[in-house]
Parts: sequence; structure tokens; C-alpha cells
Amino acid sequence: MTASDIIVLDNGGTSIRIGHIRQGIFSEAFETLKSTRLCVDDAREELLRIINDYTVRHTLNLQAAVLGIPAVLDRRNDVIEHCNNIPQLEGKGLKQFLTDNLGCLVLFEQDIMLQLLGEWQAGAGRGKSSVFGVYFGTGIGAAYLLNGDPENPLVQDIQAGHIPIMSEGKLCKCGNRDCIEAYACGHTLTELAATTGCPIERLFEYKEQPAWKAVLHEELEKFILYQAYMLATVSTMFTPELIVIGGGVTAMSGYPQGKLIAKTVEHLQKPYPASTLTFAWASLGKQAPLYGALALLNLEASRSH
Ligand SMILES: [Zn+2]
Repeated sequence: MTASDIIVLDNGGTSIRIGHIRQGIFSEAFETLKSTRLCVDDAREELLRIINDYTVRHTLNLQAAVLGIPAVLDRRNDVIEHCNNIPQLEGKGLKQFLTDNLGCLVLFEQDIMLQLLGEWQAGAGRGKSSVFGVYFGTGIGAAYLLNGDPENPLVQDIQAGHIPIMSEGKLCKCGNRDCIEAYACGHTLTELAATTGCPIERLFEYKEQPAWKAVLHEELEKFILYQAYMLATVSTMFTPELIVIGGGVTAMSGYPQGKLIAKTVEHLQKPYPASTLTFAWASLGKQAPLYGALALLNLEASRSH
């Protein structure tokens, strides 16, 4: 039987989600591991074990392994840099190591770009020539996809979550102070839940309720406004055709999606880009990296012809 299956590891920094495409059919369930599994001295071998174990249990005949990696990728030199959550994956030669040991095609993509590619292939960004993706999750991830080419060197490694915004001196996970991420990501909500005693998953639901309004309303209004500032900033600088917004925070119960967009538009210059920019919510959920993997494989095939 010819090898026609694809394993996809979406490594988001906090967790690794693994799914597959078997003879063109997408897996419905995903396995989730903690990314800290790879924070070990023999990270490469551990990654290989994870892939092999999944492949055997699901009786996959691998044509390709596609990995989303939360880092800066130097594709030509097979080097991974700035993998802040899993520094053990940094360095040279991981792709070659996996290719040699798996005996199939191995493709890497920056984790946010892999999701955005999926949206471009089959979701909210379908057919758009310029799509800026912003994912508000544990941190803030961003990627800019121009003409469906994730390797365009002009738009690599856009660290839009680290645009400085405030002057309060709050420390960001990156080591700098006052990045937008320090004020408007999942970590911010974790802190707010801890200081107020509100269950984190209820923050936006309880925001206007009498018992909670005094401690939640103002903080969460600022939180949304900072997120809008970030969207307005990248829109002003990159003037994309479409902004795709995703991530766990914006999918929380009661999250005011309409307000985020209204506040963003309020801070855009008129008439442009206010009238040209469009917004869409990431629509593929967990399956986005699978579609992203298909897009990458298509690109790879078109290059080798
Ligand atoms: Zn930062």
C-alpha cells in the first residue's frame, strides 16, 4: 500500500495536539499532550517517540509529518530559534533528524501560521491574498499570510503580541515590559480571576452582573480595548484585506466579539483602512492545522514540479 497518511502535530507552546489525515479523511478526535513533555534533554528523541507511538496506535502509513512549532524557523538551514516555551527544540538539524528516522516527508511551520494557512485553505480566509491572523490565547500569536506563501521572508516572525502599549512597567513573558500581551492575553485573565475570585470561564458572563460588576467591568473593558488597539495597530501598519481573529479567549462564553470589532474600527483611520478592512472569526477550530498541513503539502508539491 502506498504511504498516503499525514500526521499533524500542532505544538502551541502549552500543549501539543496531534491529529491525522488518513487517505484524505480527517481525524475527528485529537490527542493532547503537555508541551512540557518536550522540555527534556533528549527532546528530539522524545518527539520521535511521540510521533512513532501515535503512528503505530492509529496504524498510519506516513506520507508526511507536519509540525507546527512555536518558534522562529530558519528553513533553509534547518534551524529553530526563539522556541521560548520549549528551548530544548532550538538548534540545528531537527527536520533532518525526523526525516531520517521517520522515512517520510517532514514539514515545519510556525504554529500560528499553520492555523492561518488552514483558514486560508478552507476557512475564514479562503481565497484572500492578504490575511493577518491574530490569536488571543494563553499568549497572543500573530501571522501574516501574503498570496498564500508562508515562507515570504518579508513577513516572517511578526511578533505583534509584543508591541509596547502601556507605561505601567508590567513584565511580559518575553522579558520586555509593557507589551500588549502582558495586558490582553489569557495570562491577564488568569490573574484577574485569581484576584477577584471569579471563575475564569465566567469572567465575561459575570462582567455586568451586580455582584461582580465593581471588580470586573472596568478591567475587562480595558482588556477588550487593548485587544482592539492591537488589531487597529496591525491593520494600520499592514493594511491587510482581512483580519482573522481566533484563539481561546475570544471563544470564551460571553466574550463581546462585536465590541472588539467596533472598538477596532473606531480607532482606524477613515476612510482607509476603515472601509477596506474586513474581519472574520477563525472558523475551523481544532481542524485548522490539518487544513494548514494540506496547504503546506500542496505548496511543497507545486515547488517540486
Ligand atoms: Zn513581550
